[in-house]
Amino acid sequence: MKIPAKKVIIIRMKNKEIKDKKHIILTGDRPTGPLHLGHYVGSLRQRVKLQHQCKQFIIIADNQALTDNAANPEKVRRNIIEVALDYLAVGINPNASTIFIQSLVPELAELTMYYLNLVTVSRLQRNPTVKDEIKQRRFSASIPAGFLCYPVSQAADITAFKADLVPVGQDQLPMVEQTVEIVRSFNRLYRANMFVEPKALLSETPRLPGTDAKTKMSKSAGNVISLNDTPDVVREKVKKMYTDPKHIHAEDPGNVKGNPVFSYLDAFDPDKQKLKAMKEHYQRGGLGDTVVKQRLLEVLLAELNPIRARREEFKKDPGYIMDILKKGSETARLVAAKTLSEARKAMGIDYFSL
Ligand code: ATP
Ligand code: MG
Repeated sequence: MKIPAKKVIIIRMKNKEIKDKKHIILTGDRPTGPLHLGHYVGSLRQRVKLQHQCKQFIIIADNQALTDNAANPEKVRRNIIEVALDYLAVGINPNASTIFIQSLVPELAELTMYYLNLVTVSRLQRNPTVKDEIKQRRFSASIPAGFLCYPVSQAADITAFKADLVPVGQDQLPMVEQTVEIVRSFNRLYRANMFVEPKALLSETPRLPGTDAKTKMSKSAGNVISLNDTPDVVREKVKKMYTDPKHIHAEDPGNVKGNPVFSYLDAFDPDKQKLKAMKEHYQRGGLGDTVVKQRLLEVLLAELNPIRARREEFKKDPGYIMDILKKGSETARLVAAKTLSEARKAMGIDYFSL
């Protein structure tokens, strides 16, 4: 089947277009660990801003997390509540956003089955993010089929809610692109017009590097500063952060590019003037890593302390969290079931309503 080439359309946060229309958002995270600074700047901050002006669905993608954690379902189960706590702590409001658990909406799995027939194995193998992740996880020739196919399940997640905006980090662009292709195939093949082509919404920081600067900050790479890290842990992690390896003495001229300490300052330091002066000083020589790291620590703690305090409060009431997840999943299920039934109708397989 020939799929027309199509680049995914990307919107940046400042775009006025977002305010002009009531958008539907689908976004979410894998419950593979507590959320980190990368999530915060890449997606969470946008969700908090957009939740009142858009209809927002937030998926805790447990089924997707199992595609590379099949031997460790306990890890996935445990992290569902951690991720939910992080959501509430950063300001996601369960009355404004529908937070739900993927496996509690089985219609998503059913939709995935239909979409799998619209995608070729070679197309899945070409997905650049999945390719990187396969290498990172050292799957070699033993790639779980579910893992290779997870972009298809993401397409089901997005389209089940007819989402037109997907606030994501850069690594997710190939997934939105894959979704657009599936939407086009479905609409063309079944002469339907029921699915919209979603757009990816990137933030000002679409890819925060890890503390090791090797890859993006990622739960699976162990190079994260988590939103719930204590000040001592943050201090230790900042202290050990990679900087410019050629900047040995304070007086040496240093590199700001590729230096994650400055990437984090770019993302978090509210005093842009001071940051600019600091960068110039570092590049010229005469500014030690310890001073820059001290500033970073200050900035990060100012951001993280209130988040951690709110998290502690929410943590006292697990019943409340479970209630949010249960209710959110029920609401999400109603929406997904309606879409699934429309999809089956479009395909002509709604047997008993003929
Ligand atoms: P895992 O290693 O288990 O895949 P992860 O850290 O990559 O976990 P995900 O749950 O896969 O996190 O990602 C959830 C969302 O956060 C996605 O939209 C992703 O693009 C975004 N995101 C994750 N890491 C970063 C990062 N370092 N910079 C910007 N956005 C990020
Ligand atoms: Mg990931």
